[in-house]
Amino acid sequence: MANLLELPQVADLITFLTRSFLINGHTNVSYDSEDLFLGITNLVNLRQITTPESDVTLPVTPVTRWPFYVFLGGSLFCLLSSSVCHLFSCHSHHLNLTLLRLDYAGITTMIITSFFPPIYYIFQCDPQWHFVYLGGITALGLFTILTLLSPTLSTSKFRAFRALLFTSMGLFGVVPGIHASIVNWSNPRRNVTLAYESAMAIFYLTGTMFYVTRIPERLKPGWFDIAGHSHQIFHVLVVMGALAHYGASLVFLEWRDRNGC
Ligand SMILES: [Zn+2]
Repeated sequence: MANLLELPQVADLITFLTRSFLINGHTNVSYDSEDLFLGITNLVNLRQITTPESDVTLPVTPVTRWPFYVFLGGSLFCLLSSSVCHLFSCHSHHLNLTLLRLDYAGITTMIITSFFPPIYYIFQCDPQWHFVYLGGITALGLFTILTLLSPTLSTSKFRAFRALLFTSMGLFGVVPGIHASIVNWSNPRRNVTLAYESAMAIFYLTGTMFYVTRIPERLKPGWFDIAGHSHQIFHVLVVMGALAHYGASLVFLEWRDRNGC
């Protein structure tokens, strides 16, 4: 029987947060709500990922999962803010402009948090790089969010500047990517992780290119008002970039569980 890799899922995050809340607020945790959340966990039980190359004889010492919870939290915020934006933006022009800022802030949050699992697990044995890289992307991301939320900097005049910030976040992964390749040169997972990380950079940068150029609607005005315009393509590519980060994280998480530092 193949070995199983336990990964946090959205239901785990909900259970984790709810349990903390219930334990802090009520000492007598209701068994009904406990059963409910266990039911959700079982319903969305995708965490048992089979790794064909796994060896059952090797002991597995699971490493911490909190970077995945950060990523899941950021992704949930992004999807929630985007849903709210696109659901209510038809209300009025003023609300449309405000919600669009929230939409981009959500996307930026997901980009920031998507860096946490791969950087954490790749540099788990050199924690000083966590501070450098995770601190760097968080600072850059927060600056981008502040820029996006600022009414002055949200105007079309500063569109190129905002695009530069998105590009910087995409390119930010190049530095730890090269660093990780050097320090893990002999690691058999190197090429797979590099492929995922390259895909991440390409997805984020291509998404930014659509954001800046407003292709295809600028080529055929009116044709893409409902479907296929640059904002939708941008959304899809950002999710693909985050998924590529997720793939790289899984590869290295499995390695860390098995080999430690
Ligand atoms: Zn949007």
